[in-house]
Amino acid sequence: MTNTAASTLPLAAVLPLSAGVSDAGRLTLGGCDVRALADQYGTPLYVYDVATLRAQASGFLRTFREAYPDCDVLYASKAFLNRPFARFIADQGLGFDAVSGGEIEVLRAAGVDLETVYFHGNNKAPWELALAVGAGVGRIVIDNEGEVALLDRIAGEAAVVQRVLVRVSPGIDAHTHQKTTTGIIDSKFGVPIATGAAERTVAAIAAAPHLEFRGLHMHLGSPIFETQPYVDGIEVMAQFIAEVCRDRLGLEVAEFSPGGGFAVAYTEEQQHELPMLERYASAVTTTLRREADRLGFPLPHITLEPGRSIVGRAGVALYTVGARKEIPGVRTYVSVDGGMADNIRPAMYGAKYQAIAAERPSAPTEETVAIAGKYCESGDILIEAATVPRLRADELIAIPASGAYQLAMESNYNLAYRPAVVMVEDGRARLIRRRQTAEDLWALDVD
Ligand SMILES: *Cc1c(COP(=O)(O)O)cnc(C)c1O
Repeated sequence: MTNTAASTLPLAAVLPLSAGVSDAGRLTLGGCDVRALADQYGTPLYVYDVATLRAQASGFLRTFREAYPDCDVLYASKAFLNRPFARFIADQGLGFDAVSGGEIEVLRAAGVDLETVYFHGNNKAPWELALAVGAGVGRIVIDNEGEVALLDRIAGEAAVVQRVLVRVSPGIDAHTHQKTTTGIIDSKFGVPIATGAAERTVAAIAAAPHLEFRGLHMHLGSPIFETQPYVDGIEVMAQFIAEVCRDRLGLEVAEFSPGGGFAVAYTEEQQHELPMLERYASAVTTTLRREADRLGFPLPHITLEPGRSIVGRAGVALYTVGARKEIPGVRTYVSVDGGMADNIRPAMYGAKYQAIAAERPSAPTEETVAIAGKYCESGDILIEAATVPRLRADELIAIPASGAYQLAMESNYNLAYRPAVVMVEDGRARLIRRRQTAEDLWALDVD
């Protein structure tokens, strides 16, 4: 099978790096023909391209380490995680950001070195903190004042000294969706500087016998298409490092995380707005160096926390076209065999996607239709206005940029079977998650 240059493909800018066209004229991913994948694993099917995952992971490591050698990259697990995927990510040299006991359990079951795991959350349950402490999670990121005493007691009971960071809310608006902005004052995440809560929290940690204060964390939201919010946030954090941590509390900030939130393009249009990784890296590291120099504090170790930008572009969702409904003068609906159960993002955030007729990607586009899901909600529309060839029943469509926060937020709504997931590379597909079966639907029932 020969793959033509990906650049001749429509939507090449948002498809995975390995996307191509087979001799038969069909879309290929990782050298695998989409029709063969669909026949073998069924649709909806989620396909992750190994080449794109490797490029993103190594791109983050290389780009940030060139600019700032003392840094690590943590993959934000909530974007997509299962055990084989966790092992793959660990093999790329990344650590992990976890936000629940469940994520920690999956990482532990995958055999990940838990020292590389950072545990976040605005309301970690006592059992989750005990699990993290007992499992040897590298850092716990304290998110509110009350958590200090709770975690100190749990660490004391486990007879360990737990290393911690503090998530500070710097009061910066990252200009993203209201549901995904997290760095502003009116947010449930992080301790604010302005109210004095951040200083009290750091002071309480310094006084806690079973906690070791290592440094500070911020996460402004996601996706962030600008670099300025990182600059603004780091300036606020630097001031806090110098004036509060050093001058008032006498503490060194050995570690700092500017969080994640690096954007990916879901549509070709967004591709033009997307900052290069180099620009994010430069904004973060130049600002931190300049502020450390100006205020005279030692450069901290930094950890980046990309989730979406590692997995987003690598994933493609494949669906089979089904019913067509034309309402003259109003709209044409083309329904597919998935929808909000595997991708809630359009319904939840108004997220925009594009689609491609996967078995004839070069076919001219002929009409604009709504790509509808199959679930019992009028809001179950994957793409409101997709420009496509006239789609036929039983043909495949591919929706690019489906790797992040789709399966991570999936549900069994309408008792849909959760889709299979494959990783593709060099013409081979590896199943990393089978499709659910009916037995899975009642596996938790107690009769
Ligand atoms: C969600 C989250 C991230 C990752 O955000 P992305 O947009 O996926 O990069 C990083 N850090 C924290 C604390 C988060 O909650």
